[in-house]
Amino acid sequence: MKTVGILGIQGDVEAHARALERAGAAPRRVLRAAEIDACDAIIVPGGESTTISKGMDRLELWEPIRAFAASGRSVLGTCAGAILVSREARAADAHEPVATLGLLDAVAIRNAYGTQVDSFAATPAPGSDPAVADFRCVFIRAPQLTELGAAVQVLASVEGRPVLVREGNIWAATFHPELTNDPAVHAAFLSY
Ligand code: GLN
Repeated sequence: MKTVGILGIQGDVEAHARALERAGAAPRRVLRAAEIDACDAIIVPGGESTTISKGMDRLELWEPIRAFAASGRSVLGTCAGAILVSREARAADAHEPVATLGLLDAVAIRNAYGTQVDSFAATPAPGSDPAVADFRCVFIRAPQLTELGAAVQVLASVEGRPVLVREGNIWAATFHPELTNDPAVHAAFLSY
């Protein structure tokens, strides 16, 4: 059974833990470099990317997470986590800039769906990976991923935009896969 760390600074840690259990993994909340290094894979959850990034400064986790990814182990960033794994983060409005890990060759536009459609749910467009084709994607003040590098594979898209992508061992979902009872996204992540 894979031990999957969930970065526990802020955000949706408990819901990811339940989703990982449903998908057959052993979840563990992680906050320190040694705890991260003891995992087979890690998740950077949704929440508020500025808050999580400040916690990563305080706990000095930038290099340990980069080293974890460089070791070839899998990293999944969801929503705010997708912003944090990206090459660069930009804001669609006046939000403050946020530092990123630079693991995924993509630019994340924060809060890109605007205020009137802050939150919505949708299923992936035809052509998305069969493993997640029926998944109900919940978007909450979600980012959009743009300027994807050639090595970035789009596993699911909604309204013509990539919402679940993978570049080798690095995964990003702009939605909240932990907020439904369907463990398909976590299961797909664990199967690689
Ligand atoms: N809008 C948030 C941010 O920019 C992300 C929202 C979320 O994770 N649900 O960090």
